Amino acid sequence: MRKIIETKNISFSYKDECGEISGIPALSDISVSIDAGEYVAVLGHNGSGKSTFAKLLNLILIANSGTLIIDGKQINPKEDITDDEIFDVRKKVGMVFQNPDNQIVATIVEEDVAFGPENLGIEPLEIRKRVDEALDCVGMREYLHHSTHGLSGGQKQRIAIAGVIAMKPKCIIFDESTAMLDPLGRKEVMKTIERLNREENITIIHITHYMEEAAKADRVIIINDGHVFMDSTPKEIFSHVKELSDVGLESPQATQILHRLSELGYDVPRNCIDPDECVDIICKLMEQKRNKNVQT
Ligand code: ADP
Ligand code: MG
Repeated sequence: MRKIIETKNISFSYKDECGEISGIPALSDISVSIDAGEYVAVLGHNGSGKSTFAKLLNLILIANSGTLIIDGKQINPKEDITDDEIFDVRKKVGMVFQNPDNQIVATIVEEDVAFGPENLGIEPLEIRKRVDEALDCVGMREYLHHSTHGLSGGQKQRIAIAGVIAMKPKCIIFDESTAMLDPLGRKEVMKTIERLNREENITIIHITHYMEEAAKADRVIIINDGHVFMDSTPKEIFSHVKELSDVGLESPQATQILHRLSELGYDVPRNCIDPDECVDIICKLMEQKRNKNVQT
């Protein structure tokens, strides 16, 4: 499988007002590689380094040491990174942030979506095509001529996503992009993220606090205090209920319920992350108990 992102031993420390490195590094010795087309969720308690990790991949921040390889191109932080290199990386790795209001730059939807490709110097006819396609992709084509102000949080976030899609990135990083949305907005954005991955083959890195969202990814990376703490499939990761709780994270409800039943002596799997599967398992368990009671 072709790698889209590779970090080798990257570390980063923030500097204080005097330009001095302060405190412990925000990230230490991070080595991960992400395949093209993968859907990766990133978890970790507040302040663990998730946003810093995202910003290093997009060159909003430059690592202090280590190597970054984006779509086969090596970026060595020790050498001066040119504006062309930054531009090239931002074209390939788009970012969607938490607050939808901070990402809308124009008053009309189509102008907002066109903003990114205009900055890339794309031809007007091609921009027109990309704006329509991007709005189709997030299910917002009918809002083309609408004002951006009257939209709901979920709709604004989908417009922000369309703006990123219109730049045709190979990878999109969502930094808690569902955190400020109501349940409906979250659902709309999650559906869009899953569609981008499945149908457009865009690599997704989704930083989230919602375990149920992370459960939908192919792979989960947990960052704890600036280090990679776990990196595996959601089923494997979430079965470690105790270890997760030690780093301030909870497994999805389905996993927790079955984990508790297993502790009480019931023969149930400990790695179930799907609510429907969990319901099936509990129904079967109840039926078995009923049958047993009838027999005795
Ligand atoms: P997360 O996104 O997981 O909540 P961050 O990457 O934002 O974590 O932060 C990681 C660490 O870096 C935290 O200790 C945080 O306080 C610190 N940090 C984040 N941004 C800055 C900044 N601009 N200046 C100094 N320290 C920062
Ligand atoms: Mg953050």
